Amino acid sequence: MGLMGHFIGDGAQPLHTTIHHNGWTGDNPERYTRWPGIHSWIDGGFIAKAEITIEKLLPQINTVRAIELKKQLDGRDPIFVATMEYLTAQNAQVVPFYEMEKEDRFKSAQATKDSIGREFIEKQLIRGGEMLGAIWLTAWANASDDSYLTRELAKRAAANTTP
Ligand SMILES: [Zn+2]
Repeated sequence: MGLMGHFIGDGAQPLHTTIHHNGWTGDNPERYTRWPGIHSWIDGGFIAKAEITIEKLLPQINTVRAIELKKQLDGRDPIFVATMEYLTAQNAQVVPFYEMEKEDRFKSAQATKDSIGREFIEKQLIRGGEMLGAIWLTAWANASDDSYLTRELAKRAAANTTP
């Protein structure tokens, strides 16, 4: 669950879905930032500075539903499809993110004042949390019964009653 949380959470940060993960690389006609620190700033610095907390996000979080595991026509695993759709949607936020950065929406001084940058990050955090919840719920709902504990307790009880 911890590893899954790391990967799904990272997936909600658009910079984890692009080659432009530590600032824009290569041709740069839009003159997006090339600052390599932008990634770690968004991962933690901005969130701390903007005082984004779970308590503030809770009212915006939707109850998750299990992912539909219907058979795909192309044979792909439905969890794989849902995960790729999730990552593709976050990747679609890369250019909007760099546009916002160009408009100074993520500067330190703007963190607590500018709601556009903060709301963008909040939305991504919520999206990641909801996807993680959906995956966990899907796994739990579709898991087979685990009889290990029951069997072991029965064995122990049998051993204790043997004279
Ligand atoms: Zn990161």
